[in-house]
Amino acid sequence: MKIWLDGGLQDMESARVSVFDHGLTVGDGIFETVKAVEGRPFALTRHLDRLARSARGLGLPAPDLDEVRRACVAVLDANPMQLGRLRITYTGGYGPLGSDRGEHGPTLLVALGESTRRPDSTAVVTVPWTRNERGALTGLKTTSYAENVVALARAREQGASEALFANTIGQLCEGTGSNVFVVLDGEIHTPPVASGCLAGITRALAVEWTGARETDLPLDVLERADEVFLTSTLRDVQGVHRVDGRQLPGAPGPVTAKAMRVFEERAGNDLDP
Ligand code: PLP
Repeated sequence: MKIWLDGGLQDMESARVSVFDHGLTVGDGIFETVKAVEGRPFALTRHLDRLARSARGLGLPAPDLDEVRRACVAVLDANPMQLGRLRITYTGGYGPLGSDRGEHGPTLLVALGESTRRPDSTAVVTVPWTRNERGALTGLKTTSYAENVVALARAREQGASEALFANTIGQLCEGTGSNVFVVLDGEIHTPPVASGCLAGITRALAVEWTGARETDLPLDVLERADEVFLTSTLRDVQGVHRVDGRQLPGAPGPVTAKAMRVFEERAGNDLDP
């Protein structure tokens, strides 16, 4: 497996980053996960835009987006696979053992893993912890992901594949690695970015392609929604057949199934929409 590090391709087994890299010691970094279909990245321009936004938000030096694009193409060419997940990681770089950044500049790492097509529907749970809709990291795709790791582990314990958070004022927000949509009286709604959720790329495409509305929603909307679905780079559009103890028989329901179809048709036509 070849990865991109320090400006070029390297063997994964021998590639090295400093043990004092701030991505490792303090979670000072940002990332993107990009789907790759037969070696071609999906929506790469949107991912690069978000990477640049996350870097600005974290006060990291602006990433060289031409290099990141070149790195993605090089890693994909070097590791042929049918369905892959490119992982772009960009950290504060090698620095002192504290929270101040050092002078050694950022680390850019691009790696590739295999991915699989997700089932059409899945189970989710809600967790008692909240997303902060007004934090310094809100809306940034940072490598400070441990809260998501804990919540996902809680979901797995309950036979679910995703955990959903409310924000600090009790509104439905997002999953550990996905955005959430609900269907009420035939209309699709998703929490606005102001709820504290990540501006998901799949979310944006789904809103554009289905006409979903951005609506403040209480967490308990999950107890009465006719349908619930998730969006993310690796799930695309995925129905939900259980929320906590509530079954949603027949998921994906008709509105979700239509959203899945629209997404598949539109996304299939354009790998960089
Ligand atoms: N929310 C969080 C916290 C995420 O980590 C992700 C993706 O990993 C998403 C939402 C979905 O975003 P995207 O559609 O860009 O993959």
